[in-house]
Amino acid sequence: MYEVRYGRSNVMHISGLPEATKASADGMRYAASACPAVSGLAFFATTTVALTTDDLAAAIAAARSRGRLCASCTKAADRAVAAKRATEPPAESGVRLDGDQIKALIALVATKHADTDAGTLAKRLLAGELTVTDQHVRKLVDALTEACVAQYMKETA
Ligand SMILES: [Zn+2]
Repeated sequence: MYEVRYGRSNVMHISGLPEATKASADGMRYAASACPAVSGLAFFATTTVALTTDDLAAAIAAARSRGRLCASCTKAADRAVAAKRATEPPAESGVRLDGDQIKALIALVATKHADTDAGTLAKRLLAGELTVTDQHVRKLVDALTEACVAQYMKETA
């Protein structure tokens, strides 16, 4: 849970950002926020909540649209965004295929795009050397999309 807060100045802070340094025995103070300004009851008593959200990106956007996000909070927010990105799978293509469609996709890429990386992958999947994963399917769909777009551009050039 993140809270975008501001005091009398227009400097914005975000509470709830994870602290990068290890919490020590007296780490309670830091557990509240990565920003020194956002520690202690005084901060919470003297600031106003602009937004409460679980969405870090929304918290950052809200803070930046209202004023200047403090340097410590910016750093901590950037770290949190990078850490979150590192644990997330790559963006999905949004394409949902059933088993037969996936088989057809693999066969199509293996024959029509045999000389590409995706073609090699498709051939290995066909041969049963690899187990089909969502990532493989995505790679094949992407390769096919790229090939189609390239072909279209060539035709319309
Ligand atoms: Zn701050």
